[in-house]
Amino acid sequence: MAELKKWHELPIAGLIVEPGTARKYRTGDWRVKRPVYDRSKCIDCMFCWFYCPDQAIIQEKGVMKGIDYFYCKGCGVCANVCPKSAIEMRPETEFVGKED
Ligand code: SF4
Ligand code: SF4
Repeated sequence: MAELKKWHELPIAGLIVEPGTARKYRTGDWRVKRPVYDRSKCIDCMFCWFYCPDQAIIQEKGVMKGIDYFYCKGCGVCANVCPKSAIEMRPETEFVGKED
């Protein structure tokens, strides 16, 4: 177990002491619904990528590559904007114990 810092070793409350710390934060833990992507329906319009508030849509050169569940909070915006219903929101309980 990592050694705990003493009170006087902690940064002053509210200060962010290094840049880019949000990258390490697993916002996917907040999710109660999971967007499930069906490649066979997708037309790579990239609406989901454009509207996702967490940049959790993975794309490469304009091609949809899937969803990054480390950051996806399960808001459902991607499923709502998808014109081909290629993303379905499913209860997270269906995926308990399975790999992302
Ligand atoms: S559910 Fe929300 S956070 Fe997750 S990929 Fe879709 S738009 Fe992004
Ligand atoms: S919005 Fe739907 S059709 Fe468009 S890239 Fe995303 S998953 Fe594919």
